[in-house]
Amino acid sequence: VVSFFSGKVCLVTGAGGNIGLATALRLAEMGTEIALLDMNPDALAKAEAAVREKGVKAASYVCDVTSEQSVIDVVGRVVEEFGKIDFLFNNAGYQGAFAPVQDYPSEDFPRVLSINVTGAFHVMKAVSRHMIENGYGSIVNTASMAGVKGPPNMAAYGASKGAIIALTETAAQDLAPYNIRVNAISPGYMGPGFMWDRQVELQAKANTQYFSTNPEEVSKQMIGSVPMRRYGDISEIPGVVAFLLGDDSSFMTGVNLEISGG
Ligand code: NAD
Repeated sequence: VVSFFSGKVCLVTGAGGNIGLATALRLAEMGTEIALLDMNPDALAKAEAAVREKGVKAASYVCDVTSEQSVIDVVGRVVEEFGKIDFLFNNAGYQGAFAPVQDYPSEDFPRVLSINVTGAFHVMKAVSRHMIENGYGSIVNTASMAGVKGPPNMAAYGASKGAIIALTETAAQDLAPYNIRVNAISPGYMGPGFMWDRQVELQAKANTQYFSTNPEEVSKQMIGSVPMRRYGDISEIPGVVAFLLGDDSSFMTGVNLEISGG
């Protein structure tokens, strides 16, 4: 069966991480060739091997998205090696510290912004220049429910993901004349695993009125705030990304789809 995705090329950033890899694997199953980008070489090598097992062309690129020159170089290499980039899953990100704004570590704030916002901008700029030449493109940025409503103790992360939602809206308008769509996803609480545990532990440690200081209790409080009364599974994300990248969403651009259990 030849699908819309067969023979398309997708650049996935943060491909060594949970959401990036799960999405790369789903796209590969549909016949998409995958260029994997991450700054963690070990995670990247494992991810590339897993994607290759799906039988599609794959290549990985170690790159820190905060360096614009590295991003430009990598995007150039991807176009050389794959011939084109049809899809971008712009997903690399970092959660930052957990502390109320008055105590938030000042050195962490620009770090979060530079990875989550400036980094995503670098990638989107370099890739969209290529997509304009190619006359086609579909981009999905990973925002977060933290960007829809800023959560307590996450000043930098909430600000960064709010910025991604606005950046998505701007880019959607700027790139619409070139047959390029730009949308975003906003995952809410996802688990189990490292991100969930870290979040629960650090919200407990932050010791504010919003969460208990007992991590187990924090876990219950967070889940209790979700109408569906559970956290999401990583496997509930790739299908939404594929929908937004693919032609089933051909009249959608500039939207932010919430994946949050309500
Ligand atoms: P993860 O930590 O498993 O993956 C993130 C990946 O990004 C890592 O492999 C990391 O090496 C890479 N990365 C970080 N900084 C980078 C940089 N400067 N250059 C290149 N790569 C870099 O986390 P995840 O859950 O897979 O997160 C993916 C995206 O989803 C992030 O943008 C995150 O903010 C967002 N998100 C996650 C959740 C969640 O609960 N898991 C919820 C909402 C949004």
